[in-house]
Amino acid sequence: MHTPYDNRNSNFRAPLPWQIFQWQRLSSTFESNQLAHAYLFSGNKGLGKGLFAKAFANLMLCQEPLESSTTSLTYPVPCGHCTNCRKGGSDHHPDIIEIEPEEGSKNIKIDQIRSLSDFVIRSSHAGGAKVAIIHSAHLLNGNAANALLKTLEEPNNNTHVFLITDFPGRLIATIRSRCQRLDFANPDHDLAANWLHQILGEGNIEALLKASNNSPLIALQLAEGDSLQFRQQFLQSICAIQLGRSSIQSSLLLASKIGESEVLQHFAAFLTTLTKYTLTGIQGSEGDAAAESMYAVLKPTDDIARTQFIASALLDLYTEVETSRKQLSSSTNPNPQLLMESLLWRWSKLPLHTAMS
Ligand SMILES: [Zn+2]
Repeated sequence: MHTPYDNRNSNFRAPLPWQIFQWQRLSSTFESNQLAHAYLFSGNKGLGKGLFAKAFANLMLCQEPLESSTTSLTYPVPCGHCTNCRKGGSDHHPDIIEIEPEEGSKNIKIDQIRSLSDFVIRSSHAGGAKVAIIHSAHLLNGNAANALLKTLEEPNNNTHVFLITDFPGRLIATIRSRCQRLDFANPDHDLAANWLHQILGEGNIEALLKASNNSPLIALQLAEGDSLQFRQQFLQSICAIQLGRSSIQSSLLLASKIGESEVLQHFAAFLTTLTKYTLTGIQGSEGDAAAESMYAVLKPTDDIARTQFIASALLDLYTEVETSRKQLSSSTNPNPQLLMESLLWRWSKLPLHTAMS
């Protein structure tokens, strides 16, 4: 699913390759004790500005920063191990506060900015800097913006506010003028393509970059979003076969549209989930509609013989799916439609229902 606020929960560690310049600039300002009280991080969506802000807050609190470098630049990064890094990394450092629109709300409200004002006057837990991060700062409502302005007008020595926005023009001018601006530019094509390539491997990187306008994190969301959607579509279609609601033809069509090797990967993982459920009653991830429709069929009972019978039938098919996957990725050039048809036929004949009676 798409996270609305710039991927800050993502697994990537800032600075991302296209943020090195900004990171180096800000860290040298910090090292010389010249950091301003308020910064406005602006730039297009999907550049990881939120990740940058969080990682930089961690760096400011880190007790033993490490050196990192690219071919031309050296810069400090949080060590990841000291007390402050461990707390910051798990989002629980008391000297870092993050504000964003509450769930279901399109605005940042005045109560949230009041909690920020309390945070500003409070003394630091770790004895160092405190950092307030405001995500989607253009969503401050009028009252909240005015309250924030007061806070910005009475800066506290060791507290820094990072405002993050994709739309700096929507912030009131009096707030903007209180902030130092740090702009994030979209990476050039090759940098973005290389980064995506490392994560996605092959895959349609050019199309993703085009669709996302060279915003790497949006490109990644598009890739993952499609893949998740296709997975669910395909698995639901094969469940319909087992439940007697559909023929294998529609699943075959879907498989050739999505790509046989991709659906086989989902199929194999699905069979593992079902086998595990049959044997233990433990369900896979929640909200998986396809799996849930099969759980009802495979509900564990006290009949051990039946359980073993079904589990071994599922495992046999799993082995076949894995063999087919290997064949598809090898150079022997098998016919993917034929492989798929044979697997779906086997799946349609799995005696999951008959075993129930
Ligand atoms: Zn540290």
